[in-house]
Amino acid sequence: MSSVYFSEEHELLRSQIRRFVDEVVRPNGEAWEEAGEIPRDVLRRMGALGFLGMRQPVEWGGAGGDALMSAILAEELGRSTFGGFSATVLVHTDMASPHLRNSGTRQQLERWMPRIVSAEVLTAVAVTEPDAGSDVAGMRTAARRDGDHWVLDGAKLFITNGASADLVIVAARTDSNAKGSRGISMFLVERGTRGFSVGRKLEKFGWRSSDTAELVFEDCRIPGDALLGTLHSGFYEIMKNFQNERLVLSGMAVGESREALDRTIRWVRERKAFGGTLWDKQAIRQRIAMLEARVEAARQLLYHSAWLLAQGTDGVREVSMLKALSGELVNEVMYACQQFHGGMGYVQETAIERMVRDARVLSIGGGATEVMLDEIAKRGQTLNNSITRR
Ligand SMILES: Cc1cc2nc3c(=O)[nH]c(=O)nc-3n(C[C@H](O)[C@H](O)[C@H](O)COP(=O)(O)OP(=O)(O)OC[C@H]3O[C@@H](n4cnc5c(N)ncnc54)[C@H](O)[C@@H]3O)c2cc1C
Repeated sequence: MSSVYFSEEHELLRSQIRRFVDEVVRPNGEAWEEAGEIPRDVLRRMGALGFLGMRQPVEWGGAGGDALMSAILAEELGRSTFGGFSATVLVHTDMASPHLRNSGTRQQLERWMPRIVSAEVLTAVAVTEPDAGSDVAGMRTAARRDGDHWVLDGAKLFITNGASADLVIVAARTDSNAKGSRGISMFLVERGTRGFSVGRKLEKFGWRSSDTAELVFEDCRIPGDALLGTLHSGFYEIMKNFQNERLVLSGMAVGESREALDRTIRWVRERKAFGGTLWDKQAIRQRIAMLEARVEAARQLLYHSAWLLAQGTDGVREVSMLKALSGELVNEVMYACQQFHGGMGYVQETAIERMVRDARVLSIGGGATEVMLDEIAKRGQTLNNSITRR
């Protein structure tokens, strides 16, 4: 379905990413799942094709593109059926490196951005901790000033690209007296810095080709100019990119949902049972048709939300709706698609088995559904009040 939101440039990008997914990701994805990581060469190839710098400034080798480009990238990667691959790429392009783009000094940008765009440097963002997930303000990792340096102490959990990243954007408390969201700052920490180590690589239910790690900071000394953005304002700077992060997670959910439905329609049209095909069964046909309708609605909300972000509006209400809706919907879609694949949906020979596992995290990570619903509810109240007053 063509859309009022996209230019020719957007459509061209979509077809280029689609070709890359068909030619490179689908044939190799299973080997990457086995290996538990994505080869750097593949990411470098994406860099050379311009896929990693679409949103980055032209000055540093990027294309200066808008949020609609991120939505396209996420949706098309979602179609690959390899959620671990999508997560590896999108954390780098849309969840970690945007913090540098938004808050970096000229020197920091000059030093890192060209190599981020080419994938010579892979990035991660470390916010979540063992005792602080949804409640970001509860973080305890601390950074104290010591002469010309900062010294980090603490631990981060569930960090995507954590074991393989060359540059980690770390959130830490810089004012122990400030409460909650105040007194948090962001730092650029390079792999190999003394006192920074990967605690363990986590084995997961899904996203198996994506590396997820625990990171440990013990008396980790980093230079004074490793501070990213304004001192003590890190929480607000983290929040600034949350909408983009949730947009791409939702884009993945929409792409995965559409792909699972396409595969299932092909399957039930072929599968013979009770003197016909499974598609002949109205119960199956109609259930798939309703899911198609709901996925299409989510897709239009994805495009509209991306467009709102591209216009410079905060889009919190729409993006929260999108994340809550698509994160739950993708799991409903996967459940039905696995059901209609019968026993074949339960064995590892079919993509649907992996897609079921990969989809599960999309209602948890980057803002759990319940947290998104509260964001919507807070804003909904304002609307209701204005209606009552009239
Ligand atoms: C595979 C994977 C990759 C990740 N990658 C990263 C990364 O790269 N960087 C990073 O910083 N973090 C990352 N995360 C962390 C992720 O963002 C958190 O897991 C998520 O924010 C939820 O936090 P939590 O796990 O601590 O759950 P909790 O905050 O303990 O919440 C548990 C559950 O309680 C419910 N809940 C929470 N709050 C509320 C509420 N207010 N009202 C009602 N119910 C609520 C939700 O159902 C939630 O799932 C990743 C996680 C996973 C699993």
